[in-house]
Amino acid sequence: NLGSSLRGTLDNLRGKSRISEEDIEDIVKEIQRSLLQADVDVALVQELSNNIKTRALDEEPPAGTTPRDWVLRIVYEELVELVGESTDLPLEEQTIMLAGLYGSGKTTTAAKMAWWFSTKGLRPAIIQTDTDRPGAYDQSKEMAERAEVDFYGDPDEDDPVTIAREGLAATEEADVRIVDTAGRDGLNEELIEQIERIEDEVRPDRNLLVLDAAMGQSAKSQAADFQDAIGIDGVVITKLDGTAKGGGALAAVDETDSTIAFLGSGETVKDIERFEPSGFISRLLGMGDLKQLTERVERAMEATGEDEEDWDPEDMLEGQFTLKDMRKQMETMNNMGPLDQVMDMIPGMGGGLMDQLPDDAMDVTQERMRDFDVIMDSMTEEELENPRVIGQSRTERICHGSGKPEERVRELLEQHKQMSQMLKQFQGMGDGDMERMMKQ
Ligand code: GDP
Ligand code: MG
Repeated sequence: NLGSSLRGTLDNLRGKSRISEEDIEDIVKEIQRSLLQADVDVALVQELSNNIKTRALDEEPPAGTTPRDWVLRIVYEELVELVGESTDLPLEEQTIMLAGLYGSGKTTTAAKMAWWFSTKGLRPAIIQTDTDRPGAYDQSKEMAERAEVDFYGDPDEDDPVTIAREGLAATEEADVRIVDTAGRDGLNEELIEQIERIEDEVRPDRNLLVLDAAMGQSAKSQAADFQDAIGIDGVVITKLDGTAKGGGALAAVDETDSTIAFLGSGETVKDIERFEPSGFISRLLGMGDLKQLTERVERAMEATGEDEEDWDPEDMLEGQFTLKDMRKQMETMNNMGPLDQVMDMIPGMGGGLMDQLPDDAMDVTQERMRDFDVIMDSMTEEELENPRVIGQSRTERICHGSGKPEERVRELLEQHKQMSQMLKQFQGMGDGDMERMMKQ
């Protein structure tokens, strides 16, 4: 496993007061191996390697930072530079057109994206303009039904531009209109000319290029063709549930000077996630815990020398307690097993006390946690980071998106408030106090 050998190389730096050129070479070599195996373009890998080497040798670690943490931070920052930030997708009215090769996953992605926008409280519609592929209409309509979103298509019309025009008129009530197109490549001039005409008609706010994760090196020339024809604002990588890591798409991103918007990882409408640099980097390197590792480095940058794999409750005390932190805590609880068993492990909460609760008391709590999870899925990044911005209109949008009652959303916000207040009280204590409390 490449990830673990990179990890090993990084671990070897632990405790070193100085990092040599040779150490840097070793790390860069490991990263190169992983990235090339993940189909990342050779020129991009070379550029990344040079940047890491230059920075690691030229820049001085800030005071109080171990050389190891400093190198880790440079590596991470350069990898983020390589994969880019997520395509900006404001939760507002917009039209998005999908382009890409036949079979890349456009139709599936259209339904997935529609589903995703619906969880954000927006009303999406799919407009199906593929007149080439028999069955495209049925496939798309069926997926729209599964995503429970509006759909427009016309199996009797053979001009995609007409379908696009009529589709826009028919879906006026939708907030987000996703225009699916037929598969094509740059070699087919007729089809390229056709997508230009659809573009003229639709005037999308964004054009997304859909790429199969297994695309490899040819992604670059594909991207160039679509860039010439319609301009590409973002990339969607599909089929990441397979063995391909999707590194080829980075050349497409580079070629179009765009970013990655979504990742697809399955055939159902829910198998979609927003692109997020650290998760994707971990996947590219085959290093599952890179995110946790780097988050710590980013946040603290204070050398501690302690084991970085452990989740440390004191980390939370250092900064603001966000809804994301709360979610992480909920996940930790869930991973420990059914709530009643967890309660049994806590002194004073076990055995007798549990028996006194009504039978369904624990189910209700777990149901509430599940609801909270669904509600948080309908929140924006901003809201998760800073729940104070959630006023009445946002609450309504979140309710609509999650399908949960307002009361539940308020319960979630209340619980978060209580937990942050509790943590604030802990913040006043010294380190030792906290440790003692956790051990109790
Ligand atoms: P299009 O020709 O670009 O519209 O591609 P489709 O959306 O029809 O997808 C082509 C095939 O790939 C279909 O069988 C899809 O079910 C499948 N597919 C699409 N996205 C994914 C994905 O993320 N994972 C997997 N495993 N299959 C996918
Ligand atoms: Mg299709």
